[in-house]
Amino acid sequence: MSSEEILREVAVEVSTCSKCNLCKGRTRAVPGEGSTSAKILFIGEGPGYHEDQQGRPFVGPAGQFLDELLASINLKRSDVFITNVVKCRPPQNRDPQPDEIAACNNYLDRQIEALKPRVIVTLGRFSMAKFFGNEKISVIHGRARKKDAGYICIAMYHPAAGLHQASLKDVIREDFKKIPLVMAEAERMAAAAPKVAVAPKKNEEPPQQLSLF
Ligand code: URA
Ligand code: SF4
Repeated sequence: MSSEEILREVAVEVSTCSKCNLCKGRTRAVPGEGSTSAKILFIGEGPGYHEDQQGRPFVGPAGQFLDELLASINLKRSDVFITNVVKCRPPQNRDPQPDEIAACNNYLDRQIEALKPRVIVTLGRFSMAKFFGNEKISVIHGRARKKDAGYICIAMYHPAAGLHQASLKDVIREDFKKIPLVMAEAERMAAAAPKVAVAPKKNEEPPQQLSLF
């Protein structure tokens, strides 16, 4: 299957998923969206009110800040892919629980496998935990780490944290400015890797936008 087909399949499954209790309170599931040939994947926490209403990630106030951050490094939403660790809104925007994250993890893994991103940017603690383990975001934000799977992962504060705490806004802006450098390093890594690992994606059609629901 092409990356687009896998992403579409995941989105369809997510839209009717009942693998955890979050399905009970959702209006719409939010599989994620963006370019199916994105080299950068952003992973947030979970849908909030606006995302749940629209079925799209980061469309509320945190999303507006994310758009501003993307623009600051000359990126648009349509250049990247954006998703979350859980695809359905936790009640009252509470933290996602470990069992919910575990139940939803397979969708995220399949999205990563389909996209084969060069860079993964974690937004907030819950996506950070998947890639960085038990570390503190206050210590490792803005730090990049190479992963054996062939991408570089960089941890960032959640954009909503910048809205709640003004002092973090500039920290997040500064961390974002590192993304182009990290991307350049990831491209170098990919170019130096053995051919099989850097084989161009099978589907050479023009990139598709995935926005199904
Ligand atoms: N916060 C998140 O973590 N994800 C969204 O999609 C929106 C807000
Ligand atoms: Fe399924 Fe994930 Fe939604 Fe839980 S959060 S119901 S696992 S899609």
